[in-house]
Amino acid sequence: MLMDLSCPIELVSYDITHDDVGNTRAYLLLSNLARRRVLGFDAVIRWKDHAAGTHLDMPYSAQPKDGSARFHLPASTSDMPGADGLEIIFHQVRLEGEAPWDADPARLIDWEEPKEPSGVALDRLQQAAGDDAVCFPQEDEHYWTCVCGRLNEQGQAKCARCVRSKRMVFQKYRREALLSRSARRKKRTVWRFHPTPLSVVLLCALAGGLIFLLLWTLL
Ligand SMILES: [Zn+2]
Repeated sequence: MLMDLSCPIELVSYDITHDDVGNTRAYLLLSNLARRRVLGFDAVIRWKDHAAGTHLDMPYSAQPKDGSARFHLPASTSDMPGADGLEIIFHQVRLEGEAPWDADPARLIDWEEPKEPSGVALDRLQQAAGDDAVCFPQEDEHYWTCVCGRLNEQGQAKCARCVRSKRMVFQKYRREALLSRSARRKKRTVWRFHPTPLSVVLLCALAGGLIFLLLWTLL
């Protein structure tokens, strides 16, 4: 996936649907990372057909009605009936009261999105970090990936998307820490006995009943 970390907007997620006559439609969720309202942008949507191993680039421009935070936009094509994924490469973003942001090919990073956990691992992650968490944090010498899925530069102390601090993310939400903690908790739940007044009374009654039964049998 190609991305420029300086871009003031980003694609957060999308849903793709197909109709019976070969049209592909996408419902895009975009996020404004700048402090100013987004007036409009020019970009290219790269429709991807993973099964066929093909893609199609389509110019895409929009003027969102409310570009202040997160906003939805539609997109469609009749030239890619098998599309099952997409990415957006932004060329220019126009912000209220600021000079336009222009893409620079030299800043583009070809980034492989982190593999998303599933099942118990995803449950543990979201219980600890929140419903927007989609992956365990990762880092290399240049970048770190937040639990929300956003790539950030290594020197950035807070995530550009969710504003979680890098320090907290790596302290609390590492895969090893979360999964080993949940395993220990499960073990404790299974084996530890917590006596309560009621359970003590019941156990005494059971023991007394057994002794009485034994004595009655012997006599
Ligand atoms: Zn984040």
